[in-house]
Amino acid sequence: MTILDASIRDLHTKIRDKEIKPSELAEAALQRIEESDNKIKAYLTVTAEQALAHAKKLDNLPDGEIPLLYGIPGAIKDNMCTEGIKTTCASQILANYIPPYTATAVKKLNEQNYVLAGKTNMDEFAMGSSNENSSFFPTKNPWDPERVPGGSSGGSAATVAAGHVPFSLGSDTGGSIRQPASYCGVVGMKPTYGLVSRFGLVAFASSLDQIGPFARNVEDTAAVLQAIAGYDKMDSTSAKVEIPNYLAALNGDIKGLRIAIPEEYFAEGIDPEVAARVKEAIKVLESQGAIVEEVTLPHTKYAVACYYLLAPAEASSNLARYDGVRYGVRAEDAENLIDMYKKTRAQGFGAEVKRRIMLGTYALSSGYYDAYYLRAQKVRTLIKQDFDKVFEKYDVVVSPTAPTVAFKSGEKSHDPMTMYLNDIYTIPVNLAGLPGISVPCGLAHGMPVGLQIIGKAFSESTILKVAHAYEQQAKLNLRPALAGGVRS
Ligand code: GLN
Repeated sequence: MTILDASIRDLHTKIRDKEIKPSELAEAALQRIEESDNKIKAYLTVTAEQALAHAKKLDNLPDGEIPLLYGIPGAIKDNMCTEGIKTTCASQILANYIPPYTATAVKKLNEQNYVLAGKTNMDEFAMGSSNENSSFFPTKNPWDPERVPGGSSGGSAATVAAGHVPFSLGSDTGGSIRQPASYCGVVGMKPTYGLVSRFGLVAFASSLDQIGPFARNVEDTAAVLQAIAGYDKMDSTSAKVEIPNYLAALNGDIKGLRIAIPEEYFAEGIDPEVAARVKEAIKVLESQGAIVEEVTLPHTKYAVACYYLLAPAEASSNLARYDGVRYGVRAEDAENLIDMYKKTRAQGFGAEVKRRIMLGTYALSSGYYDAYYLRAQKVRTLIKQDFDKVFEKYDVVVSPTAPTVAFKSGEKSHDPMTMYLNDIYTIPVNLAGLPGISVPCGLAHGMPVGLQIIGKAFSESTILKVAHAYEQQAKLNLRPALAGGVRS
């Protein structure tokens, strides 16, 4: 145990009561990163100097109350803009990009005076499920370095699992927070579309992208969500909703709560060990007074195909801006303007990003638009209606987060189709714009399994409450050996 293993609330109390200084905490985090990140490679940039300088200033506590995240170290996925600090999206095309502004979600953390430890590795432009698409290096799973941490927010999940920092931010377009959280044995949450501002998040698929927190327990996750949620005039899709007190919702009372279990999420393809852990977790919820019933989400089988049309279509449009003129890298050896565009994009983007740009451009091209893009939009509506119907009668939907535990590096990277199928339980949630959380629910084959809890739009309090009730009852406290933990 070191001080970094404490919860955010405990650290907050210790800072407030002057038992520990923010600079001591920052030093501990940076030391732990130095000790183990050569094995995990969660970071693209460690902001050691700035972190220490910032934390030193915070040692002088202001008068009155300090915010919950005051002096707490955290990490940010490298697709969120941080003024003056490199933001690469793990892409060569943004290898030198230093943003002149900070993403709203990060700004909100800054307002609480959290301490930035660094920017985390990811699949290039958030396209991937394993971190193997980072153009710099792959991140390893702290539970087993031969396995992937998941993706695309693999660095953010791994750094929390490794005990470097108590929390991090990731982004989730089709599962990129929940799946790595599941693979690394931490909590990860994708909020309702529009709850957290996307301003300053480098766009992948704008109708699906959402920023959300990773932490080691549900209460810390709620604390970080509280800090980053809220309306922002800089994001036209930001929702004007009242932000409730998420921490107050964690009262453990799920008696009479109605839980729906979608039969399609336990169908062919799921590892039986994973299914067993999830079913045991559902029993725990039942023992706490929840009412559990099976339901059907009949359009689930179209979700992966629908997503892999819509997301690449939006990506092809969003990534058109990387032309060598405005951002990042420009090809040197071009003969004319068109040649410069071509060479910049050919050299700057990796294979998966190119694949998606081509798929998306094709789906949007005239003559094919109705057959692919428009039809996928209609399927998206059907998937959303499946959920609407279930939520008429139930409070939450509970399922596995992913069909397997973390797979071995290289196991799926040669076959994009099997990689895409891994997102089967997370993608529908993005398509429907709903909130979802992944909470650890045990081990299968020695690796963590995630329980996914999905709620109605803007019912973050409910899914946090269910996740917290489960966590308190199950008392798993899963920690990889590398972070000094015992496998329990
Ligand atoms: N794995 C999915 C993809 O490759 C989801 C990525 C994400 O949520 N950013 O698109």
